[in-house]
Amino acid sequence: MSIPFFPPDLFDGDLLLEVVREVGLAPDQRFILGSRTARFEEVLRDGLGVADAVACGSGTSALTLVLHAMGVGPGDEVIVPAYGCAPLASAPSTLGATPVFADVDPWTMVVDPAEVDKLVTERTKVIMPAHVFSVMADMPALRRIATEAGVRLLEDSAVGQGGVLAGRAAGTWGDAGVFSFVQVKTFGMPGEGGMVVTGDPALAREVRMLRNHGQDGVHRFRHHRIGHNSRFDEVMAAFQLRRFATLPDRLERRARIGEYYTSRFADLAARGVLAPPPGRDGRCFYVYSLLADRRDALRDHLTAHGIGSHVYYQAPLPRQPAFAGHAQPGRDWPAAASAARRQLAIPIHPHLTDAQVEHIADEVCRFAATSGAHG
Ligand SMILES: *Cc1c(COP(=O)(O)O)cnc(C)c1O
Repeated sequence: MSIPFFPPDLFDGDLLLEVVREVGLAPDQRFILGSRTARFEEVLRDGLGVADAVACGSGTSALTLVLHAMGVGPGDEVIVPAYGCAPLASAPSTLGATPVFADVDPWTMVVDPAEVDKLVTERTKVIMPAHVFSVMADMPALRRIATEAGVRLLEDSAVGQGGVLAGRAAGTWGDAGVFSFVQVKTFGMPGEGGMVVTGDPALAREVRMLRNHGQDGVHRFRHHRIGHNSRFDEVMAAFQLRRFATLPDRLERRARIGEYYTSRFADLAARGVLAPPPGRDGRCFYVYSLLADRRDALRDHLTAHGIGSHVYYQAPLPRQPAFAGHAQPGRDWPAAASAARRQLAIPIHPHLTDAQVEHIADEVCRFAATSGAHG
């Protein structure tokens, strides 16, 4: 049995060809920001019950557009997780602001609200948590901190689509939330794209202008802002519209696989393999990530048994060469560093068969059993 970490057959190729034909043969030949994009925005907006949804060029660019719309610029600080993907640090940096890195929870790997709270200064403009792997950030606590500090909250929900915490959907906890549709994400597609969702119509209007060179959508070539090119592709919008109805089924399959793994791995913590916390509340099941003391040995064991796995972030963001200049001197991020050493993700994509899922769980358990307590 050979089980890749990313499924090679992620998309229905016939559907892709169909929507290329549909958009390509449409009389108006409109390939960006057309009626399908508008419809896709409406579908997400209404599904989440938010004031507006604005489709844009990528998840990264969605973060940048929102920060820009919130007025973030030189001299401002944006509090971001010390562990996570590069856009968390690069989005504030490209606007000339300073990312301030907060350490994460050592188990769930999402940003620790107590650490965020300590870093708020008079220069803080935005708090920008992210959901990580299969766990949503502690949004109620972060909401309280942002409100008390009088700063904006931007929820990086790039991996969180479909997640619900305390009855509230991922993406709707912040002043704005952001999704990514890059191939590997839970609502991935065969191209680049992202979405900003917000309950704040004025913020949405600003993002809408900024995504298309600061134009207002009425007067062409009148530029109210120095904007960006972050527009959405009509073929991708058509593709996503066709796949939206079946998204809950795929998310449910992921959740079931995740729950099965967590139940199988419940007793492995004493043997140096820690599964994410059980339950459905505040979970998103984008990636199923273990923390293993002997991470590389586990990875080798899985490879030897035909199971693909993936190490995500191999260093805390402030230890990346690109962002080291923003690493506040004297500060360190022990939980982020520990996650970077121990994190290993195993397959959870919805195409896995039950037999494959069992095989993966069996091999993780077998590794833990033979590796002794804290090898
Ligand atoms: C994927 C991801 C992004 C970036 O999305 P792109 O569409 O790849 O630009 C941002 N934040 C997080 C947490 C992500 O996982």
